[in-house]
Amino acid sequence: MSSETIGPAPWMTLPKTQAVIAALEARGGPGCARFVGGCVRNTLMGKPIDDIDIATTLTPDAVIAALEQAGLRAIPTGIDHGTVTALSAGRPYEITTLRKDVETDGRRAVVAFTDDWSEDAQRRDFRFNTLYVDAEGRLYDPTGEGVSDARDGKVVFVGDPMTRIREDYLRILRFFRFQAWYGRGEADPAALAACEALRDRLLGGTAERLQKELMKMLAAEDPRSAFRLMAATGVLPTILPSVESLARFEALVAIETEQLFEIDPVLRLAALIPDDAEAAGRLAERLRLPNAVRDRVVEAVGQEPRIVSWMSPREARRAVYALGQGAFSDRIKLAWAGSGRDSTAPQWRALLALAETWTPPAFPLSGEEILKAGVPKGPMVGEVRREIELWWIDQDFIEDKFSAIERLKAVAQGMVY
Ligand code: ATP
Ligand code: MG
Repeated sequence: MSSETIGPAPWMTLPKTQAVIAALEARGGPGCARFVGGCVRNTLMGKPIDDIDIATTLTPDAVIAALEQAGLRAIPTGIDHGTVTALSAGRPYEITTLRKDVETDGRRAVVAFTDDWSEDAQRRDFRFNTLYVDAEGRLYDPTGEGVSDARDGKVVFVGDPMTRIREDYLRILRFFRFQAWYGRGEADPAALAACEALRDRLLGGTAERLQKELMKMLAAEDPRSAFRLMAATGVLPTILPSVESLARFEALVAIETEQLFEIDPVLRLAALIPDDAEAAGRLAERLRLPNAVRDRVVEAVGQEPRIVSWMSPREARRAVYALGQGAFSDRIKLAWAGSGRDSTAPQWRALLALAETWTPPAFPLSGEEILKAGVPKGPMVGEVRREIELWWIDQDFIEDKFSAIERLKAVAQGMVY
C-alpha cells in the first residue's frame, strides 16, 4: 500500500470512465474497483495510454448486473477468466475480477476469484504491471518495486522468472515486448536466462496470442535492442526461424526515425525475413496473420521487378503500375534499408515521392472501341487489349487517344482471327 497519488490523469476524469467506476461502486461499495496495468504504468511514466483495464472485487455476474443497472453495455469477453468489457460512450473498459491462478500448465490457467488485492497482484507478470489506482487517485504498489521499475525502465517479473514463465510461456514474449517499449539500461539477467532456458516452450501456445505480442513489440518506437536480446537468447529463431540477420530491420527502424516516417510494424516484420514470397506466405500461415497483413508482407518481399536506387522515373512508373502504389513504396523502403548506403537517400526519397504523387492514368481504350475496330466478341478482345496495354506501358502510359486508336487498328489488322 502506498500514500502516493497520481493524476488526475485526463482518462481518469473522463465522464465515461467515471460512469464505469460509479456503476461498480454503486454495487460493491467505494474502493471495489481500481485501475490496473498499462494505464497506470504509462501514466506514471508520462506516456500515452492504450486501453483501460479495471480490477474489481465484484464477481463477473455482479459486474454485469452493476453495468446493466447503470445503463451501460456489458460484453462477456472473457467470462471464464473473469473479464467483462463495459462499453461507456463507445469506449471499452476491460473489467476483471480479482483472481489467483489455481492451476497452470503454461498455456491455460484454472483461476479462482478472490477479494484479496495482493493475491491478484501475485498472478500478474511484471512488477510495474501490478500497480493499481483507485477512483481517488491513490496509488497501490503491492510489490513495493513497481513504481521504481516504471521510473527506471526495468522489466522485472513478479517472483521467480522460471516459475512465472512455466505458468504461461507467452510471458517470454511479453518480457521482450515490455522491454522494447519501456526497457532502459541493462535488461534483467535472471529474466533473460529464464527466457533462454524455456524458449522452446513458446511454440506450444496459440499462434494468435504469440502474433499479437510480436506485432505489439514491432510497434514500439525503437525495438532494436529488444530484438538483439531476443536473438542473443535464441527466442527470435524459435518464433521466426527464417530470420538470418537483423541488419535490414535495424536500418529500416533508423530510416523511419530519421525521415520521420510513421512507425510501420508490418513493414518491420517484412524487413526481418528474407526476400522470398513463398516462405513469407508460410510464415504468415503459421503466425495466423490477418489476411491483409499477410498479403502486404508477401508483396513487400517479392523480387520482381527489381528495385534499385538508380531506377529512372519511367522505370519507377512501370513498377508502380505493376505493383500498385502501396507495395511499390514498401519495396522502396525495404530496398533502401537493405542497401546500407546513406548516400542514396535522396534517390530513394525521390522514388517514394513519385509513388505518392503519380497515379497511373486510365487505360485509353474501352472494350467497345476494341469491338468497333473489328475484333470479334470473345477472348480475342482481352488479347488485343493486353497487346495494346503492353504498348501503352512502353509508351510511358501515353494519354494520346488518337495514337491508341491507330495502334488498335494496326493490332486488329495484324491479328489472325
Ligand atoms: P498495454 O498498454 O499494451 O495494454 P498492459 O500492461 O495493459 O499494456 P495487457 O496485455 O493489456 O497489458 O494486460 C493488462 C494487465 O494484465 C497487465 O498489465 C498484467 O498485469 C496482466 N496480464 C496480462 N497478460 C498477462 C499474462 N500473460 N500473465 C500475467 N499477467 C498478465
Ligand atoms: Mg492493457
